[in-house]
Amino acid sequence: MSGLATARRIVVKVGSSLLVGQAGADRVWLAAFAADVARLRARGQQVLVVSSGAVALGRRRLSLPRRALTLPEKQAAAAAGQSALMRAWEEALVPVGLHAAQILLTRDDTEVRRRWLNARATVETLLGLGVVPVVNENDTVVTEELRYGDNDRLAARVAQMIGADLLVLLSDVDGLYTKDPRHDPSAEHLPRVARLTPRIEAMAGGADARAGMGTGGMATKLAAARIASAAGCATVITLGQRPQPLRAVEDGARATIIEPSTTPAAAYKAWIAGSLAPAGALVVDEGAAQAVRRGKSLLAAGVRRIEGRFDKGDAVVVRDEAGEEIARGLVRYEAEDAEKICGLKSDAIEAALGYTSGPLVHADDLALAAHAGG
Ligand code: GLU
Repeated sequence: MSGLATARRIVVKVGSSLLVGQAGADRVWLAAFAADVARLRARGQQVLVVSSGAVALGRRRLSLPRRALTLPEKQAAAAAGQSALMRAWEEALVPVGLHAAQILLTRDDTEVRRRWLNARATVETLLGLGVVPVVNENDTVVTEELRYGDNDRLAARVAQMIGADLLVLLSDVDGLYTKDPRHDPSAEHLPRVARLTPRIEAMAGGADARAGMGTGGMATKLAAARIASAAGCATVITLGQRPQPLRAVEDGARATIIEPSTTPAAAYKAWIAGSLAPAGALVVDEGAAQAVRRGKSLLAAGVRRIEGRFDKGDAVVVRDEAGEEIARGLVRYEAEDAEKICGLKSDAIEAALGYTSGPLVHADDLALAAHAGG
């Protein structure tokens, strides 16, 4: 069981070596892959693609030399190649009734919370509209220090951002082996990894299979799987060089599945509860405190006052009037606006601010304090 048949939200990473052939984008492979994606969409599953290939396509387009490119050359190649890459995706997806939408991310977009929330909202909207987001790193503007560096890790961060339950890394090997299968006939394939222990990482990292054109070897795949696992997302590593690699896995083709160590929802709440320094507090009345304890959103109507200066998307503490912490959450309004709508009913917010972002803190973005649950 790879989880492909049941996953709700799937991120598929497609490397340069799969979609860039001698003569540019490999349209035959892309057309077959698009049909594979359409099949999942038709079953109601959401699919997001993380696609490399901008640099590889651009260097051909610009006839750049074969040697390693300088950073400005790589950025130029990415700029020229990204448009060719998107054209190839559109040409593949439109015939199967799907639209592609380009999303270019930099590391800040998944690490700075406000940008992360914006990017997440856009991806959510696209997925809801039935579009296939095609994500790549914004290679043209990032510098070496600020890069994800490889699309395996980018794909894992994206999976984490959108709460995906499955990450598929299409690779030039069909999974993890105990040794390098190209050099050692005693290498054993690992179909399922329950936990990425140092032993597994040492084994599989030693069997490093570097892709021809991309930047990711097995070590980066494991790094990606580690991020995904902690975010509640399973990872499948399998061979991409066949016409419909996702169908092949469902039909039992060789692959390695690395299991998640939690669920996406629990990982997200743990992140809110544990790793963010709160920028302020919302002091709520008894009715709101009870609603939040029961897992409801925090509405402006139940907020008595706010403390601290915070921005939209910042982490805040929710406290009752006795000073007891009830929860932590990501607030949907900046402090100044939150102040103006304290105590207001939801339908009065728009008149007060000229816009509404819904509840002050949405239930999905609230993590109850350990003693407050139930
Ligand atoms: N973002 C790069 C490109 O599109 C590829 C990076 C990678 O494959 O890891 O060319």
